[in-house]
Amino acid sequence: MSDEFLLLNPGPVPLTDDVRGAMDEPLVSHRSTAFEATYERAQRDLDYVFSQSTLDGRTTGNGTSLILNGTATMGMEMAVANLTDADSEIVALVNGKFGRRFKRIAERHARITPVEVAWGESFDLDAVDRAITDDTDLVTMVHNETSTGLLNPVAEVGELASEHDALFVVDGVTSIGGDAFHIDDWHVDVALTDAQKALAAPPGISAIYVTDRAAAAATGESAPFYEDLDWHLRKSEDNQTPFTSAVPLFRALAVAVENIREEGMDTRIRRHRRQSRAFRAGFEAFGLDSFPTVEGPTQLSNTLTAIDLPESVKESPEAFFDAVGERNVSISGGQAHLGGEIFRVSNMGNLTAEQVLRGVRTVGESLTE
Ligand code: PLP
Repeated sequence: MSDEFLLLNPGPVPLTDDVRGAMDEPLVSHRSTAFEATYERAQRDLDYVFSQSTLDGRTTGNGTSLILNGTATMGMEMAVANLTDADSEIVALVNGKFGRRFKRIAERHARITPVEVAWGESFDLDAVDRAITDDTDLVTMVHNETSTGLLNPVAEVGELASEHDALFVVDGVTSIGGDAFHIDDWHVDVALTDAQKALAAPPGISAIYVTDRAAAAATGESAPFYEDLDWHLRKSEDNQTPFTSAVPLFRALAVAVENIREEGMDTRIRRHRRQSRAFRAGFEAFGLDSFPTVEGPTQLSNTLTAIDLPESVKESPEAFFDAVGERNVSISGGQAHLGGEIFRVSNMGNLTAEQVLRGVRTVGESLTE
């Protein structure tokens, strides 16, 4: 087995050689036809990723994908800021760091009703049902909560949002491109993802899918200048972004999503599910337990695994993380108050079976050292 550096953090994830190579090509202007061709290819294949992630051969979504010159937090803010104003009511679901980030963004733009449970716990759908009313304009939610490894019930919450005609904005940053995502069935109006996660492209840019309904709801009146959704939509018709594009990153993204199209979303989703099961089974064999609590329609993530550190390791977690690092493998600890409590590994992107096995072996050896 190779001792090459292995990046198993839940983003950024390892790049294939062709994706890395795309960043090395001579630079062109972001207003050139060469760049427009790159944008067009990337957008076409992103449309494929967003719309073919149904795992049953159906196409989903009635809209368009946009590539943004910023990470997914830009897409989260773009959605909220363009679809609400100070008088709007947002219901923000929080059960981890990224749900909390969405809530913080929402607070800056509108009035909010949070539905909050402890990080790693499942939502109480009755509480969500009580929070969403006919006054709700928009609901924010994270599909795959990267901070805890929980796959949240987007279908069920989308149904509730739709009953009250509220717009539904879903962060699919660590699911889209690696797991199933049903824009229509789940009543999603805006979905967003990051380049450096399941798309397996370099960090720095992101993608957002805007349904026709959401595009019509973006009035532009309260839009921030840099994140003006309507402007981005109009420029994308010319295969451009409103401002200077990160050309090498767009090129790398175009190759990454072309690779996804070649693998096929069905095959890719099944591979991700297999690899996450393999991680979990391997860690269980070392006596390790999953961190999140799964109840009702909530599931464990298919793209990353969060493990409760054994009590003996919690006494000095640095020794464990150092031992993993000495084996040339990079994994993540817990975020915020989960620091020193859990570790997280990703199976997003293009991992091989050997890399998964090496991840399991490395964790096991580092625990027992
Ligand atoms: N949402 C989720 C669920 C994430 O995991 C991340 C990154 O880890 C983000 C959003 C966006 O983070 P950033 O803008 O720093 O790339």
